[in-house]
Amino acid sequence: MVRDLMKAGHVVGNHTFTHPHLVVSSAIETRTQLEECQRAVQEVTGESPRLFRPPFGGRRPATLRIVRSLGMEPVMWNVTSWDWKTPGAEKIVRTCMRQMRGGDVILMHDGSHIAMGADRSQTVVATDRLIERYKQEGFEFVTVPEVVVRR
Ligand SMILES: [Zn+2]
Repeated sequence: MVRDLMKAGHVVGNHTFTHPHLVVSSAIETRTQLEECQRAVQEVTGESPRLFRPPFGGRRPATLRIVRSLGMEPVMWNVTSWDWKTPGAEKIVRTCMRQMRGGDVILMHDGSHIAMGADRSQTVVATDRLIERYKQEGFEFVTVPEVVVRR
């Protein structure tokens, strides 16, 4: 799946190996989580992620120091879709639209912290609608590294 994502032009980041809350993780646990994820992605793609998003957004200065020491930059989001509450595609779209201004990073999910096989069909539909709507308005959808280069 990761190989297919990268082949399709997406950028794959590190999100830890087992999705713990890093605010309550020790430095050793945090480093191990990041390194295991790096190794797993490296094994299947030949590349190590350069971006990192902390599970639940949980991080402390010590977390970010470890992230950077491993050659990654943390990336957060500014638009929260609340898709994990499965409110329906239309509500996900409206929730995102209220927050979007341009140059946004939208938080959406594939799987869930409760069940990895969670039904994300609402997220898929909402994503298609958002992309269609914003493209019509002249927005472009780009990867995080592309946004950084353009700023
Ligand atoms: Zn997550």
